[in-house]
Amino acid sequence: MSIALISVVIAAALLLLFFLPLDNLRRKRETPVPIARMDERDVMFSRAARVSGTPEYDEYYSRHPDQQRGDDHIRAMPPLMGPGAAKFHPELSVEAERFFEDIFAIEPDGAVVERWHDTIDGSDDRDGAVREMFRSLGAVAVGATALRPEYIYTHKGRFPGDYGHEVSLDHPSVLLFLVEMDFDAMQRAPSVEVMRESACQYYQAAVISKTAAAVLEALGYRAKSHHDAHYDCILPPLAVEAGLGEVGRHNILIADRYGTRVRIGAVSTDFPLSHNRPISLGVEHFCLHCRKCAVSCPSRSLEAGERQEVRGVLKWPTEVERCYAYWRQMSSDCGICMSVCPFSHRSNLFHNTVRRMIRLNPWIRRLAIPLDSLVYGRTWKMPDTQVTGH
Ligand code: SF4
Ligand code: SF4
Repeated sequence: MSIALISVVIAAALLLLFFLPLDNLRRKRETPVPIARMDERDVMFSRAARVSGTPEYDEYYSRHPDQQRGDDHIRAMPPLMGPGAAKFHPELSVEAERFFEDIFAIEPDGAVVERWHDTIDGSDDRDGAVREMFRSLGAVAVGATALRPEYIYTHKGRFPGDYGHEVSLDHPSVLLFLVEMDFDAMQRAPSVEVMRESACQYYQAAVISKTAAAVLEALGYRAKSHHDAHYDCILPPLAVEAGLGEVGRHNILIADRYGTRVRIGAVSTDFPLSHNRPISLGVEHFCLHCRKCAVSCPSRSLEAGERQEVRGVLKWPTEVERCYAYWRQMSSDCGICMSVCPFSHRSNLFHNTVRRMIRLNPWIRRLAIPLDSLVYGRTWKMPDTQVTGH
């Protein structure tokens, strides 16, 4: 046999090894759903927003006296984006805060709404045209799924104005979409650059979801935007159901091509939509052996061991109080677990090819974990120079 023929046979064998689905992961996944709905009043950001002496504070801690002392301790720490903490920066912190504040005032551009109304209205494929609208507005991925009641909050909890109101949302479908977070900014974790990038993408997501909701309403359907601090439903599990990715050990969505460097937005609606199915990227198996986020977490908030049952779902629990206290210490988003995740590398030909092999092949998954550690380190390396504050 000639050397050329042997080379071809070896190359073909390698291709088979790398690209053939050697396990059943291409099969569509069924995701377990929680047995009980969540109350937004229990979410860490809602608890952090309570002010001592207010009716909301008294109501919440009369029901949860065990949490009062710990939450008071966190609230006494320097505020996010405020002076007095390790990473406060007089310009970037203020810029980040302005993005969050401006989200409230976003008004959809009337000309854009009219253009997409006409495009969708005149389309033979209205479902496809709606998805194209999200991409055109800046989303890097979009999917749709049934709005299962299990993922709708029972009560509002973030702001005093509607604190304790029962959430009533009967839209049959929800469109989920992703916006990408900048790779270089995320490499600065934990720092105010991460906070600024996060705020910027939350803002972009809110522009997209408010505009898309306005278009669907103009078409005569009911629609509601779900964006930063204004969620009636829990987006990461719905994004999984809509085929946008999987949730990893760090309890954050891992999307194809971007890993965890994404923010999620949503529009619930009664517009008739086909529903996507959950996909597998090989994350579940990869996370069993990886643990890189858990060992890199500076507050030890992530579970490095086995999964546990949380509200009827087997998952790796996160200690949200420890995580959020670290944010307050830093006065910034942390972002280390997002940035250190091997799925979060740049979206380019090389990394997307590796992602494809990881998706299809369990052997490659096991091989990729030590290789990633060899090239990028076993744990997160804090950036050398950071924009530090006062
Ligand atoms: S954001 Fe930071 S502190 Fe929080 S879980 Fe991730 S790595 Fe840990
Ligand atoms: S860092 Fe590793 S263990 Fe953590 S979510 Fe990413 S792949 Fe999973």
